[in-house]
Amino acid sequence: MYEQFGISEKIVNLCTKSEKDVEKIFKGIDEICEYNTLKVLKAFQDNHISEIHFGSTTGYGYSDIGREAIEKVYSQIFKAEDSLVRSQFISGTHALTVALFAFLRPGDTMLSITGLPYDTLHEVIGIKENASSLKSYNVNYDQIDIVNNDFDYEKIQKRLQESKVKLIEIQRSKGYSTRKSITIEQLEKVIKAIREVDKEVIIMVDNCYCEFVTKVEPIEIGADIVVGSLIKNLGGGIAPNGAYIVGRKDLIELAGERLTAPGEGKEVGPTLGINKSILQGLFFAPSVVSSSLKTAVLASKMLETIGYKTEPKYDEKRADIVQTIEFGLPEKLIKYCQGIQMGSPIESSSVPEPWDMPGYTDKVIMAAGAFTQGSSIELSCDGPIRPPYVAFMQGGLTYQYGKLGVLKAIQMLER
Ligand SMILES: *Cc1c(COP(=O)(O)O)cnc(C)c1O
Repeated sequence: MYEQFGISEKIVNLCTKSEKDVEKIFKGIDEICEYNTLKVLKAFQDNHISEIHFGSTTGYGYSDIGREAIEKVYSQIFKAEDSLVRSQFISGTHALTVALFAFLRPGDTMLSITGLPYDTLHEVIGIKENASSLKSYNVNYDQIDIVNNDFDYEKIQKRLQESKVKLIEIQRSKGYSTRKSITIEQLEKVIKAIREVDKEVIIMVDNCYCEFVTKVEPIEIGADIVVGSLIKNLGGGIAPNGAYIVGRKDLIELAGERLTAPGEGKEVGPTLGINKSILQGLFFAPSVVSSSLKTAVLASKMLETIGYKTEPKYDEKRADIVQTIEFGLPEKLIKYCQGIQMGSPIESSSVPEPWDMPGYTDKVIMAAGAFTQGSSIELSCDGPIRPPYVAFMQGGLTYQYGKLGVLKAIQMLER
């Protein structure tokens, strides 16, 4: 079959050898998948999920029992007091925006301790001017950078003692930066350090791409609030859109009132028929995350073998599903992304080209042959056209098509 896809014998052999070398790592991924699958099933069973929860509401969406059950299931999985899981959130960016506007008031300060936040948050915060930013409401922003791939623990403690900070934002995944993603161990250590000097500051974690990569989620180690997207890990490739916020009850209430209207809050929100997709996506999520991780490990191993710099290394501990590959040359980055597109189930004959995307300084190339627009839990690969020409690859609903995408992309590099 691989011959029919135009993959050379040499690359198939390299893949077979690489798969042998990563057997032990795959076993570890399977073990975490099993644990998280049981975690999800326990939450489904404890909350008596039934066909009745697949029902739909329209209009205001009062008393939507499916929506309420979904939020209970999410709370249990995250060990959180409460949660907000809604398709009225367009995506992760929107949920992060709602959370920030819900918790911060004029005169308050938010502090990022993972350096510059994800690109789409720059205009939300006001790092880049926007008439509707937090800055336009007199919310201050402060930032402490990551040093040597770890938190600047001392500087963080010192800053918190200097003057009041209302909210700390921690972005676990690296975004388009070249730092490493934050592990759950690092997160636990920094939360302890924060709590030594400040019992009150709201600790908010951007958990995008990290869910179900390990057995532990951020609330369990002391985070107050966690935010993520449903077109990433937890949607399992099934949820058509949406995002979640989980955490402290008082904060979830504030987020609900900001998402809808003060006084209505969490009580409204029609589900318009998507409850089953959200539940089924969550049911698949541990397995889909494990397929994504295996695809990333295989890519890392094969590309390392043929001489490219990858991060994480194939045998390194992973915090998220993102794999970066440094190509050094723009043509290689472009070819690799085009190969990923060619291996995809949808729009495999489209050829992605670098373009001027709104909100980015450099041209960006994006490969995404996905069932859901913008879904990056499906095999996808993108990168800004700037030195050192790094590809950010993630996703893979199944390992088998993830593997085909990687083989096709490596074949393109050989051309
Ligand atoms: C994807 C992502 C976001 C934004 O999520 P969308 O669903 O694309 O809006 C925010 N932060 C990080 C770290 C991300 O990876």
